[in-house]
Amino acid sequence: MKVARSIEELRSLRPGLAAPVGFVPTMGYLHDGHLSLIRAAKRGCQSVVASIFVNPTQFAPTEDLTSYPRDLDRDLRMLESEGTDLVFAPADAEEIYPVDFSTWVLPEGITARLEGAARPTHFRGVATVVGILFHLIEPQSAFFGQKDAQQALVIARMIRDLHFDVDLHVEPTVREADGLAMSSRNTYLNAAERAAAPVLRRSLDLAESLWTQGERDTEALRTAMRELLAGEPLVFPEYVSIADPRTLDELDTVGTKALVSLAARLGRTRLIDNTVLPPGTPLIEREAECS
Ligand code: AMP
Repeated sequence: MKVARSIEELRSLRPGLAAPVGFVPTMGYLHDGHLSLIRAAKRGCQSVVASIFVNPTQFAPTEDLTSYPRDLDRDLRMLESEGTDLVFAPADAEEIYPVDFSTWVLPEGITARLEGAARPTHFRGVATVVGILFHLIEPQSAFFGQKDAQQALVIARMIRDLHFDVDLHVEPTVREADGLAMSSRNTYLNAAERAAAPVLRRSLDLAESLWTQGERDTEALRTAMRELLAGEPLVFPEYVSIADPRTLDELDTVGTKALVSLAARLGRTRLIDNTVLPPGTPLIEREAECS
């Protein structure tokens, strides 16, 4: 496995990769959710590139940029054991963002909702860094997790709107045994918060089972989810949403497809999770394995 710490190194190593190239962007401190994306890329692509970059522009000044967990050596061992061909791990933020950086990719529309409403500059940072990474790595396919559903929808639009020749693959959320979605931020949870956190998944399960029993009224579904969440006093919900995945407008009734998503605070940790109704529906239809 090759490791590039600078754009210059990346540019010298990228031509040696066999096509099609699959790309997995990450902020490091890897877990099985990230590795599931590497495995998905390995299944179809000839070469797999991962990036490890804690992207400062997607954090607001009040957020956890400085405390975000980092362990590059461990991450590299994990990526090597999965058969990753090349890792781009910029040595510092200036490698990506020159002094006086001033050119942004600014996604609009769906970024006014959900995570974008709570974190107004977040998706500008995400779209800009993913655009830069696509440009540098030139992958044929890119692999993202459904865990960050709105992010996947924003990237799908950026690919379409800016005509990136990249196939987007959105892979299922990988969970701990008790249902908690894996996240690098789970390390912030204390023992009591960790014990309370699976209620997020349980509230999504409840929405799925009520839907299966025939409930289509979204306010009834949201109310049932909020009541379940209220049973865990350490969990402070920020939003419970049932929205049209194309617009992220809240729905009155569940029709052909709905994104059920929520965000909650547990102490200093902010967690998100989601599911799609009808249960098992992909957020974005899958493309070919790799192309
Ligand atoms: P991050 O390092 O948090 O920026 O995540 C990098 C990629 O991994 C993103 O596409 C995430 O959606 C994805 N990811 C994070 N957690 C999970 C998970 N539990 N299951 C599947 N994918 C995930």
